[in-house]
Amino acid sequence: MTAILPLPPGSTLGILGGGQLGRMLAQAAAKLGFDVAILERETDAPAGRVAAHAIIGAYDDPLALNALAELADVVTFEFENVPAASVEALMALGVEVAPGPLALAVAQDRVDEKSFLNARGVATVAFAAADSPETAVAAAAAVGTPCLMKTRREGYDGKGQTWVEHAADAAKAFESLGARPVILEAAADFVRELSIIAARGRDGAIAVYPLAENHHEKGVLRRSVAPAEVSASAAEQAERIAARILTGLDYVGVIGIELFELKDGSLLVNEIAPRVHNTGHWTQDGCEVDQFEQHIRAVAGWPLGPTAARAQVEMLNLLGDEAAGWATYAAQPETRVHLYGKREAKPGRKMGHVNRILGSL
Ligand code: AMP
Repeated sequence: MTAILPLPPGSTLGILGGGQLGRMLAQAAAKLGFDVAILERETDAPAGRVAAHAIIGAYDDPLALNALAELADVVTFEFENVPAASVEALMALGVEVAPGPLALAVAQDRVDEKSFLNARGVATVAFAAADSPETAVAAAAAVGTPCLMKTRREGYDGKGQTWVEHAADAAKAFESLGARPVILEAAADFVRELSIIAARGRDGAIAVYPLAENHHEKGVLRRSVAPAEVSASAAEQAERIAARILTGLDYVGVIGIELFELKDGSLLVNEIAPRVHNTGHWTQDGCEVDQFEQHIRAVAGWPLGPTAARAQVEMLNLLGDEAAGWATYAAQPETRVHLYGKREAKPGRKMGHVNRILGSL
């Protein structure tokens, strides 16, 4: 099917991925009058249970992709490791896929990502690529130690990365990460981690949310506060960075951009996520239009909505057993509970989040 844009209510929108981000996207799409078709690997996943259609299959299964293309005119995704070939297959079937293949390719490889950013005038830490124990040692010596070695592809939530204290240790570190192609990153001497959630519509319009301040534990986001207390210069820098990235990728949809704030007030980009982002969950209860609706509006070719904050919000992720405390949170008038309907509370698993309203703006 070829999409009519703007996509009229009553149409079916496809989402690759059945986790919590897919679930909240599906809920936002339903609010705008769309039916949602989810393609997911597992039956009973969080998103499939709130969608009109759930197709069960691998993301690169041609039958599953055909079934999705039969139902949906526009397809988006909830995670960045969608195979490029799947996107191409959907496009060949006449489906509009947003964000597009360039955004996916850039976000899937940490070296390509940083190279793209630097080429667009967006600063990152110094970095070097390696694909053998010898080149890893040379790369560590080039960026300086201590440095952080990360797999180029498929790392998330701090997985697939290890610190290297001395260049000579890089060979062992390379083996410990599975002898896969890696990036070595100079250590960012940051004072805070911030992020900016931004969106670009099909007409090229850009909208940015106020910045969030983020706190991680063992590489996993625990807590965000937004709007963060930032200088006007930090806000301007972040907006400029977002605009350069969105325009450079000819992007359509919501993007999450993780930032390091340095002592001198300058910002470096840590990484970009071509999708709705955990550090944007606060927008559900803090903003006029949240990141999920914004993403659906963008990919459906609708006008972007207002991004102004109406409240300052503290977002807490509920990991593993913490979601069992839902009744306590639900009894707090200033707290909004968001649960993902996951059946099993494995340790560290993102089961839900709460947004605590700190004050109206
Ligand atoms: P990432 O998987 O790249 O988002 O990294 C997870 C977390 O590791 C970040 O949120 C930072 O706290 C930390 N981190 C990542 N890269 C660096 C770096 N180059 N220097 C210092 N800390 C880093």
